[in-house]
Amino acid sequence: MHANSSRPSPPRLHPLPRSPRMKTVFVVGAGPAGIFAARKIALAGHRAVLFNRDIKPGGLAEYGIYPLKDKMKFGLRKQFAQALALPNVSYFGNIKIGNGCDLTLADLDAMHPSAILYTCGAQGAHRLGLPGEDAKGVYAAKDFVYHYNQLPPYASADFSTGRRIAVIGIGNVAIDIARWLLLDSPSRLAEEVIILARRGPHEIKFDKKEIDHVIHHVDRAALLAELARVESRCAAAGEEVSAAAIFAEHFPALSAEDFTSIPPRLSFRFLSSPTAILPGPDGRIAQLEVGDNDLVLRPDGSTKPVPNGQKSLLDVDTLIFAIGDKHDEQLGLPIGPNGYAVQLNPDHPDEPVFQVWDPVLSQPLAGRFVAGWARRASTGLVGIARHDGEVGAQAALDYLATLPEADAPNPESSPESILSLLESRGLRPVTKDDLTLLAAAEQQEAVKRNLSDYKFSDNESMFAAIEREKAAVTSSGD
Ligand SMILES: Cc1cc2nc3c(=O)[nH]c(=O)nc-3n(C[C@H](O)[C@H](O)[C@H](O)COP(=O)(O)OP(=O)(O)OC[C@H]3O[C@@H](n4cnc5c(N)ncnc54)[C@H](O)[C@@H]3O)c2cc1C
Repeated sequence: MHANSSRPSPPRLHPLPRSPRMKTVFVVGAGPAGIFAARKIALAGHRAVLFNRDIKPGGLAEYGIYPLKDKMKFGLRKQFAQALALPNVSYFGNIKIGNGCDLTLADLDAMHPSAILYTCGAQGAHRLGLPGEDAKGVYAAKDFVYHYNQLPPYASADFSTGRRIAVIGIGNVAIDIARWLLLDSPSRLAEEVIILARRGPHEIKFDKKEIDHVIHHVDRAALLAELARVESRCAAAGEEVSAAAIFAEHFPALSAEDFTSIPPRLSFRFLSSPTAILPGPDGRIAQLEVGDNDLVLRPDGSTKPVPNGQKSLLDVDTLIFAIGDKHDEQLGLPIGPNGYAVQLNPDHPDEPVFQVWDPVLSQPLAGRFVAGWARRASTGLVGIARHDGEVGAQAALDYLATLPEADAPNPESSPESILSLLESRGLRPVTKDDLTLLAAAEQQEAVKRNLSDYKFSDNESMFAAIEREKAAVTSSGD
């Protein structure tokens, strides 16, 4: 009899054909950078072992890209599944690496992999550093995006939003968030989303195709008034902000004479920096104090916002800051200016470097590499992360080629030994077989609910679904 048991059954692994040439590379983080790096390492004849914090692979490609971009998400999932299906790629999901985590860097070192590639993305967020920042209703953009993309535990945490929402930052992430609030949030509460930028309209970083999703919510009259408000201050730094030019460059639809704005409203505020968050009696943000900036032209041609002392108060009940992500200090790698420490070549400072650098000993950490958003936080789309992961993998492969050939692959870093170690610590790693079962269960849920996609939003439901599928597969084979 194969009944459901309350204890999750242990995952199975498939033994590999081995050659003495084969070396093991641990890859920490299974987002696009890590998965495509693992693929490259495996195709070169080595063993790639992925450790991933989340149960499911994909990182921000699964839990960041806008929920309705089905075609893109499904295409990426397919490519990820193909990479993971390679026999010499192993996957351990639900395993977080770092200080005080499931495995520390010392634990990884103790398994003697030939190299480690860190592709764990940029899990920290730049803080605003403002009084009142801990008020309810104040969120880092990535956490909010993880929430609406159903990543546990963010999916079930309180990310409630209200009627008037301020979003700090003016890139694609800010527009995704505005889109969610204006069009797709189940709460449907938003009456106005206000996007704040500390410089002028020339700071706009969002793409036309992203703003297009919400273009009819842009309050054109308010935008015209805002451009007039900041025009002379921008001109002082050599930036022309005529409505015709800004519309043509960033909001083409607004140039049409018959353009009409519909509620809820999307508005913009330029040359504005948040200076304090004022909570109401319930502890939730009630007002945002905003300081006005002048714009100063630097000798190198860039501009700098400089506070001019004017302040105003915005009545908002939610504040989301989309000002970029940073590396996760808990991981325990040495920290550099853009991510984990790498040593730039002074003669070619623009050349990317993938090897982790120890600033204390002033030497590279042998066999330790970093790629993707872990190398340069918040930089580029999936294609860039993929390329970066592959170049990082090549750096690791070049390093492997310098190592002596062993008689046999190191048993301590074999998937079987890793699985035993994880289980001996009471952990529940998610394997490739589990992912297949989970994908089947989510597909069934989607069909049942007549949806194009369905995601379980907590780990318990995912494990329960895996066990249900396992039991069903076993009993159908009886
Ligand atoms: C809101 C948003 C929308 C986006 N929309 C698009 C889009 O429409 N199109 C597009 O092409 N790109 C988009 N991107 C960019 C794209 O998602 C990134 O370029 C890409 O995901 C970065 O890949 P990565 O592998 O470096 O990092 P991530 O995708 O962040 O992956 C990191 C992985 O590491 C794991 N991890 C983290 N910490 C640890 C740890 N300590 N131990 C073990 N594992 C760990 C995580 O679980 C995750 O799986 C978007 C990004 C955001 C934030």
